[in-house]
Amino acid sequence: MSADREHEEGWSASAGGSGALTTMGLGLDPPVFAAAPEVIADRYRVEGLLGSGGAGQVFRAFDTLAGRPVAVKWLFGLSRDHLHRVRREVAALRALRVPGVVRLLDEGADGGHRFLVMELVEGRPFPGCRVPAAWPRVRPTALALLETLARVHQAGVVHRDLKPANVLVREDGQPVILDFGLARGREMGETITRQGAVLGTPRYQAPEQVLGEAADARADLYAVGVMLYEALSGHPPHPGRSVEDVLRSRLDRSTVPLAERVPGLPLGVAAAVDRMLARRPEDRFPTALDALAALRDEDLGAEAPLPRLGGGERAAAVVAAARAGRSVDVVGPRGTGRSTVLREAAARLAAEGRKVHRLG
Ligand code: ADP
Ligand code: MG
Repeated sequence: MSADREHEEGWSASAGGSGALTTMGLGLDPPVFAAAPEVIADRYRVEGLLGSGGAGQVFRAFDTLAGRPVAVKWLFGLSRDHLHRVRREVAALRALRVPGVVRLLDEGADGGHRFLVMELVEGRPFPGCRVPAAWPRVRPTALALLETLARVHQAGVVHRDLKPANVLVREDGQPVILDFGLARGREMGETITRQGAVLGTPRYQAPEQVLGEAADARADLYAVGVMLYEALSGHPPHPGRSVEDVLRSRLDRSTVPLAERVPGLPLGVAAAVDRMLARRPEDRFPTALDALAALRDEDLGAEAPLPRLGGGERAAAVVAAARAGRSVDVVGPRGTGRSTVLREAAARLAAEGRKVHRLG
């Protein structure tokens, strides 16, 4: 088990093993670990297990017709809940042909099991690296995830079960969202939602989901908030010894502000993550695009910290170089206050009556 996996699963293990929660919440039949055939639907040659959850197993397989590797989700059971879950996932994936969402290639039934065939994603659970991770490392993946999520929401779909295991991050940092089995959308049947049922994985659920209330796109933003909080701090926003503890504190208590957990994190980033974790949906960002904008502009915001390297001095050095007609590069990872230095230097030069042009 890798460190990421431990991070991902460690907590739910105390609640009786991962998967148990989802199964319980959905009211599905207990998993039947029926072995998949070696070849599914006369076409997909099973090569190995990629993962398993409450609803089924996902295999790496070779598509002998198309001649390429694929992922096959092989679902347990034939109950109505399973059928709804598959329909839901298929409907969502059909509606969502957008970059950053796993592609559905085929679907069918074999030997009394339903299955979905998807593109094979070679990646690791979000954030795709060891946690806690530094913001510059997480930043491109986080922004891409919010960009994809904005598209998902614009297509009228809410995922409702975002968590690291459902967002695989490729080697190049590109995240791919999987597992739309609990998704909800305009053109998808709404019948399966049991009133009051806890759907999905409680660890990443928004308070309104925990309460069994209607959850919209802002619940997905909450889940991304939990994922980012954990990725950047190495701590869950609501620690607890049991699922009940965590859920209770999720409803009763706010999180420790992320800036307190991660000194040196740009304050704009910390504030944006804290806002995603607001208890009331109306206190979160209204859309994924707003959250994206806040994270993207984190080092331009007024609340961004002055460079830890000594802002005044840096700006003075830039001003001195400009006065002497020398060029100067301000380098450093994003979030260290480069923009603030340049803004301050520009203001000082402008105050001297010099013309300042901002390019790019
Ligand atoms: P479940 O509903 O059982 O959670 P998922 O769709 O999340 O089903 O799949 C379970 C696991 O299988 C994922 O967490 C992931 O590790 C792996 N997996 C699923 N789909 C793919 C895919 N297309 N490519 C690679 N791995 C996948
Ligand atoms: Mg899953």
